[in-house]
Amino acid sequence: MKVLVINAGSSSLKYQLIDMETEKVIAKGNCEKIGIGGFITHKTFDGRVIEMAADFPTHAEAFMKLKEVLTSGEGKVIEDMNEVSAVGHRIVQGADRFTESVLVTDQVVDTIEEIAPLAPLHNYAHALAIRACQKVLSKDVPQVVVFDTAFHSTMPEKAFMFAIPYEYYENDHIRRYGFHGTSHRYVSQRLAKLLNKKPEELKIVTCHIGNGSSVTAVDGGRSVDTSMGFTPLDGVLMGTRSGGIDPSVVAFISEKEGIAGKELSEFLNKKCGYLGISGITSDDRDLRKAANEGNRRAKLAGTMLRYQIKKFIGAYTAAMGGLDAVVFTGGIGENSVDLRREVCENMEFFGIKIDENKNIEFNGKEHDISAEGAKVRTWIVPTNEELTIARDTVEIVNRLKK
Ligand code: ADP
Repeated sequence: MKVLVINAGSSSLKYQLIDMETEKVIAKGNCEKIGIGGFITHKTFDGRVIEMAADFPTHAEAFMKLKEVLTSGEGKVIEDMNEVSAVGHRIVQGADRFTESVLVTDQVVDTIEEIAPLAPLHNYAHALAIRACQKVLSKDVPQVVVFDTAFHSTMPEKAFMFAIPYEYYENDHIRRYGFHGTSHRYVSQRLAKLLNKKPEELKIVTCHIGNGSSVTAVDGGRSVDTSMGFTPLDGVLMGTRSGGIDPSVVAFISEKEGIAGKELSEFLNKKCGYLGISGITSDDRDLRKAANEGNRRAKLAGTMLRYQIKKFIGAYTAAMGGLDAVVFTGGIGENSVDLRREVCENMEFFGIKIDENKNIEFNGKEHDISAEGAKVRTWIVPTNEELTIARDTVEIVNRLKK
């Protein structure tokens, strides 16, 4: 069974075609610049790379091109689109309407659009992509939607409410939703397997640290709190996002700069974080290089992130009443030795202690970096959101057959 996983943005459509017998990626790529030109990058399992300009006025043309590169020319990996048994879509915002992955129906797509005001940059694009996919593939090909928010739907009220007048929750659905749920679910479940434990037996803090970052408290296999909020802006500072800051700073800047609404949101999402503090880059690798060359602000940005993650680990340990394991994942979580070292420094009080040699040794595979005898197990678990989406898709499609 082959599953096509789609991660659509407003101007891009990332994809992976996965063979579910082996769980290996057959081909992956990205259709970019939708609506403003068009460019496709397509990579096959055996190392073929196709890069070419294309014409993508809408997501529908991008899908047509995707069909073409998968089934013909130099990047061909399948004879016919009929070989694609199902499609799994990543959806950013499921709000309180979706607490698990579901099969796509017309009503599901309508609901994804209905809640789009909560995530305007993402959900409209997801709905467009699902409809485009229905047009290009046969309507008989089942499609499944997997929500970034779903894993966090188990958070208790005390964790998801904001202390603003209650009617904003009732009327406008303003609350903490949390994101990266597919990743937090994958790494926490994977870790339970690696530790030979049931998820129900474990209290885990999962740190997904990349361009966007979030930290989650997973108690007994369920998310009980998470650092991202109503949108992915809250929590720890990120590449270009501020993370959680005193809300009055927002009011101050709004007045000083004469900006509000979209412009203010753009400021907090695009001009802050690593970029805002360092003034030079949003990328962790570039930031570390600058810091090593003596750039004080670049060093500060990195130090701030690590301090904030450390505080979340402490807070979530208190919230869960204990801690069995910490997991690092995401581009930075998996690749930055310095980040893991500094986050875990002076955490013996919590039972966390890592072995510096093991911390350095990581080679892209799941890796236990705990020091001998440490009470809390600390691991690096590379995330795999696409595989999780594909697995959910298979499970739902199989249920359908029964
Ligand atoms: P996103 O949140 O967009 O999925 P990623 O999880 O890919 O982002 O993380 C991107 C970040 O990871 C960047 O800041 C990048 O510098 C950092 N990073 C560090 N080392 C690597 C590496 N070897 N490969 C990829 N990203 C890395």
